[in-house]
Amino acid sequence: MEKLTDTMKAKTTITTGFNKVMQLKSKTMQFKRRNNIFNVFFRTISALAFLSLTIEPTLAQQDFSQVEIIPHQLTDNIYYLEGQGGNIGVSIGEDGVFMIDDQFAPLSEKILDTLEDLSDQPVRFVINTHQHPDHIGGNQNMGREGAVIVAHENVRTALAAGFTNGDLAQALTADQRIGLPIVTFTDSVDFHLNGDDIHVFYNGSGHTNGDSFVFFRQSNIIHTGDVFRTVAYPRVDVGAGGTFHGIVASYEKLLEISDANTRFLPGHGVVSTQADVLSQLQMFKTIANRVQNAIDDGMSLEQVLAAGLTAEYDARWGDPQGMLTAVFNELIIR
Ligand SMILES: [Zn+2]
Repeated sequence: MEKLTDTMKAKTTITTGFNKVMQLKSKTMQFKRRNNIFNVFFRTISALAFLSLTIEPTLAQQDFSQVEIIPHQLTDNIYYLEGQGGNIGVSIGEDGVFMIDDQFAPLSEKILDTLEDLSDQPVRFVINTHQHPDHIGGNQNMGREGAVIVAHENVRTALAAGFTNGDLAQALTADQRIGLPIVTFTDSVDFHLNGDDIHVFYNGSGHTNGDSFVFFRQSNIIHTGDVFRTVAYPRVDVGAGGTFHGIVASYEKLLEISDANTRFLPGHGVVSTQADVLSQLQMFKTIANRVQNAIDDGMSLEQVLAAGLTAEYDARWGDPQGMLTAVFNELIIR
């Protein structure tokens, strides 16, 4: 993994040199784009300020100037881009660039530069896996580039509410609308691009109430958004309609539709296998059983949090309190 990253970094350095030449050639175009991006940048910040930022770092706290966008190649035409925020899935080819999530607005220009290195085609579609700012922050910039933004209908509702402080009856400006998903679905939508049948589907509330999974059927790769991650215990954004049992159900669905060769691209973390998904699922079930037993024994949330129920997992997965609280609150009302 380390070695692969170094190789990609070297590749990025070489392409950066190539870019310098290309920059002269496309100076006018770049200037136009830069203007667009900075025009919408401040409006994006004010809109994002209304979103639920309690569980993600805020834009104001982050310095994006040092962030490098690193492309990782998965197949001839599928990549993911690592920068800051959620992993961006990318399919390139003759049919155009198909993109999953777009990180933060201040990174859009770097992301577009990286995509230009990979493909001479424009960004045609952007899927939003869910509503969190580190996955949708570049929406307005991508919309201005002409991309069609697609998401579960709950993502659009949440983002629209973010612009109007929760008042869904309030009309949105053209600037606001260009950053919203203009195509929404409730169950699934399929794309047929770049030699792949791409199945985008909803499996109920998990990380949020609008989580989409993106299954490249021929390439056998699934972008899981933040439902499946490899960096920490699952994050249940209760305020955004997330549920722990929904995350468990989603893992079961992921196992059902995948095989031993499937590669899982998580919202955060490294490309994983079915065995990784299964092992996390087993851990969730073990933890949920322990919480249920604690509830049956009459323990309070405070006691559950102090009981060390996840002790053997914490070194790998970190602080369990958020997850345990969600599990407790869901199980206690059953
Ligand atoms: Zn998220």
